[in-house]
Amino acid sequence: LKNVVKIYRTGGEELEALKHISLHISEGEFTSIMGPSGSGKSTMMNILGLLDRFDEGSYHLNEQDVSNLTSNESAHVRNKEIGFVFQSFNLMPRMSLLDNVALPMVYSGISAKERKERALEALSKVGLADRVFHRPNAISGGQKQRVAIARAIVNDPAVLMADEPTGNLDSKTTLEIMKIFQDLNNTGTTVVMVTHEPDVAQYTKRIVSFKDGEILDDQPVIERKTL
Ligand code: ATP
Ligand code: MG
Repeated sequence: LKNVVKIYRTGGEELEALKHISLHISEGEFTSIMGPSGSGKSTMMNILGLLDRFDEGSYHLNEQDVSNLTSNESAHVRNKEIGFVFQSFNLMPRMSLLDNVALPMVYSGISAKERKERALEALSKVGLADRVFHRPNAISGGQKQRVAIARAIVNDPAVLMADEPTGNLDSKTTLEIMKIFQDLNNTGTTVVMVTHEPDVAQYTKRIVSFKDGEILDDQPVIERKTL
């Protein structure tokens, strides 16, 4: 991101949520985004994930200028390059875990057989191969988040983005999720994650701190914890 400004306009009000943010994240990094509530973390994640647009500045993803894409173009790049995980899982309640994970591939021209195989493989990576025909309401919160991660990685994205992925989870389950992120990062996936918990950030490689729509601090994690 270079000098990115994001202004929310509601009614007659304008709010500058990001004030000339510049941030470079290299391939293979594992970055935490921290900072107080309302400081602009989710706003930036939504821009990085091509879920929202911005008012000034530029965004390059894998050397491609993605600053001014149409919504069709950004959907295409998002599907190919980005996996997104939310705090609130966002699973489809009436679908099996397998169908939930296969969903992002439905519009990508992959055969039903291959969709199933790839969904199974993604669910195996998060340790849920034995639950594929369950519905989301039949599994725990931590397992739901693992399904959401499987869905996010099924297209083999270059970047995995997660906005407070452990915000609804207890500390044991949080570590299970961090272990999955570390494993994915070790096999080449770039991970960017928002967290409120300083302990959780210690499992990542770098901490970028936000305040009032600006980057206040950007430091490597010196004694990184591994799982
Ligand atoms: P939290 O830790 O609570 O999730 P955050 O750092 O993710 O906070 P953002 O959601 O990015 O914060 O919000 C930044 C600012 O933009 C806040 O003042 C918020 O009220 C405002 N904001 C966020 N989304 C919108 C929106 N859709 N419309 C108008 N204002 C918004
Ligand atoms: Mg947020």
